[in-house]
Amino acid sequence: MTRTVCVNGDYLPEGEAKVSVFDRGFLMADAVYEVTSVLDGRLIDFDGHMRRLERSLAELEMTCPMSATELLTMHRELVRLNRIDQGMIYLQVTRGNPGDRSFLFPDASLPGTVVAFTQDIPNLADAPAAKTGFKVITIPDLRWARVDIKTVQLLYPSMGKMAAKQAGVDDSWFTDAAGAVTEGTSNNAYIVKGNRIITRALGTDILHGITRAAVLRFAAEAQFEIEERAFTPAEAQGADEAFSTAASIFVMPVVEVDGKPVGTGKPGPVATRLREIYLDEMRKAAI
Ligand code: PLP
Repeated sequence: MTRTVCVNGDYLPEGEAKVSVFDRGFLMADAVYEVTSVLDGRLIDFDGHMRRLERSLAELEMTCPMSATELLTMHRELVRLNRIDQGMIYLQVTRGNPGDRSFLFPDASLPGTVVAFTQDIPNLADAPAAKTGFKVITIPDLRWARVDIKTVQLLYPSMGKMAAKQAGVDDSWFTDAAGAVTEGTSNNAYIVKGNRIITRALGTDILHGITRAAVLRFAAEAQFEIEERAFTPAEAQGADEAFSTAASIFVMPVVEVDGKPVGTGKPGPVATRLREIYLDEMRKAAI
């Protein structure tokens, strides 16, 4: 089945979809994005993703030519046309096509470009990796200083993923100049000590994960203590458990950091339970 994608409101076979070479998303990475997961053909935490999209756009003085209601309709239409039961919808909004290359922002009246496509992942909720957990290495965080804005500048995270692959592991966690973990290449990072869940506080140095917000809410409801502070790779190696969260992996146990096992070296009870709660609750609330 040919995938149908959406470009500026037009639904097209993926081979016919086109964006200008002058589009600022292409030339300047002048674009923001969201990834919403789909379970049972319904959208997980769509409102959360739309709120963060609005924040990213506002931080960059960008506007989206489509309203939140139109974006919801588009997401649902892509799920329907591509018959997605489990998977993801990628949405990107760029500052548009000014017709030439220039560092200056074009006039605010120029409409942005809106592109969206589906990714069909039939075993998203039952990913085999969730049963064995992720192994991670740590590498310096060399991204720009506003990673709280969800831009498409993903070259360094992409290099981080390649470094992990070359090291024979699943992901890289970034460390700041003080040696503390910021977050993963495309996820937020946590450790567990007893009844405490420790994760870096929100700031401009991590993405404000939509999954993070939900997981911390469910963890607090389940009587876990939440400590929002930085931790080092050494502290992670000595923790009972570790895990990462993102829309694409939900709650993913992390069983090894820089070659040393975390806890038993197997997915722990806290990460496993939080994953179950998250999936149950978010499936119930999906739209
Ligand atoms: N941190 C980074 C750098 C990310 O790229 C992502 C997701 O892509 C996350 C955290 C997790 O965010 P969310 O839970 O909203 O998917």
